[in-house]
Amino acid sequence: MDINTPFFKARASEALQDANLQQALGNLKQGFPHKRAIAVERMPEFDALRDQGRDLKNHILEHLDLYLEQFESRVTENGGHVHWARTGEDANQIILDICQQVNAKTVTKGKSMVSEETGLNDYLEKNGIQPVETDLGEYILQLRGDHPSHIIAPAIHLNLEDVSEAFHEHHHKPKSDDPVTLMQEAREALREKFVVADVGITGANFCVAETGSTIIVTNEGNGDLTQTLPKTHIVITSIEKVVPTLEDMTLFLRLLARSATGQEFTVYNTLSSGPRREGDQDGPDNFHVVLVDNGRSEMVGSQFQEMLRCIRCSACMNHCPVYGAVGGHSYGWVYPGPMGSVLTPKMIGIEKGAALPNASTFCGKCESVCPVRIPLPKLMRHWREDEFSKHLTPKAARYGLGSWAFLAKRPTLYKQFTRLSSWGLKLLANSPFGGKKGTLESIPLAGGWTDFRNMPAPQGDTFMQQWKQRQNAAQTDGESS
Ligand code: SF4
Repeated sequence: MDINTPFFKARASEALQDANLQQALGNLKQGFPHKRAIAVERMPEFDALRDQGRDLKNHILEHLDLYLEQFESRVTENGGHVHWARTGEDANQIILDICQQVNAKTVTKGKSMVSEETGLNDYLEKNGIQPVETDLGEYILQLRGDHPSHIIAPAIHLNLEDVSEAFHEHHHKPKSDDPVTLMQEAREALREKFVVADVGITGANFCVAETGSTIIVTNEGNGDLTQTLPKTHIVITSIEKVVPTLEDMTLFLRLLARSATGQEFTVYNTLSSGPRREGDQDGPDNFHVVLVDNGRSEMVGSQFQEMLRCIRCSACMNHCPVYGAVGGHSYGWVYPGPMGSVLTPKMIGIEKGAALPNASTFCGKCESVCPVRIPLPKLMRHWREDEFSKHLTPKAARYGLGSWAFLAKRPTLYKQFTRLSSWGLKLLANSPFGGKKGTLESIPLAGGWTDFRNMPAPQGDTFMQQWKQRQNAAQTDGESS
């Protein structure tokens, strides 16, 4: 997948003018946050569970090496193989080698964001192996040559007409706009792929150290067919997904389903603990787990360690006003929304990724809904500091911040300046730049604030003037009583 993150601003502007996308995003804003709120209300201990989840993840990250080694030992005892991939390229090569060893021609795939991160599909195709996505959303995107725009609803940016077109073109059947007919078509097409696939590749929501199991959660059951029908099952996942015990896994499953889709529990929760054993009715003959690092071990012990608590629920993007306005493709790479604004610069470098931590209103909604309490605004602020200290911030912003710092260090001057600015903006609101009801339609040199909305003009005195007035009033009240 090409990295288009440096073009965030241009892509966001296009997205704001895309009527289809705006309609799809409108549905998203109504859907998942509402369902999450109902699920949370039904569970009084939800906030206590979030604290437990945060503390447990912190504990795991402090002992990541031990739990990963324990996981590897258990997988090996179960008859499987663990492979360590330092980079995305390493992971792709390991998977290609396994596929070539079993003479694979086609592989079926369950949804995996890590494989998007490594560009696995392109790599396999270049080497003569046909990957087939089996998650319905991912399948639609693959037919269209498109990429996910959301981590749990990958095709959220498409409408029914787009799906109908894609199926008509690739399934060679009469065009339909009936969702049930379309789903049946996809099911028929995918059943054939499941049966003939030589290898099944899935991601993992969690890896359990005590049993050597990996688990995937889906609402379609496609993951089960992907991992049980082919003779070889490869799990590609990242190192921070390990949890100590099955009991710990259930804590995260309860947090994940409610935060993601507002479900009490996801429909299919499927554990894989090695290859098929004697007496098993189904399952693969070979079981491999590829553990991807790709920059994550550098985050351990750094100011970004807390990001490794992420369980990929998508609650932060579902509630983010910026994601809700511009959609996932604007972010230009695999991980969108607030979590992507922290993770992406780590993976592609702040030089290419700086637009993302700057594309935040810092309203704090993402942090308030994160099931493992990741302080996303704080982490985005770290990136802004990093960008500034490396002199990557645009000159206008640097001069602006420098001027503000100059004023902020001189309280008398600052007070005069804010008083004058407030007065000036009030004047501007009553000039041809002004809009209705005391708003500003445009401010010279500040089009970013006013191009898509009117800014309210100051109504009264400055904050400091009002503060002083209140203090004086309180003092007078105190003296007179
Ligand atoms: S950062 Fe938090 S809210 Fe966002 S996807 Fe990760 S766990 Fe979910």
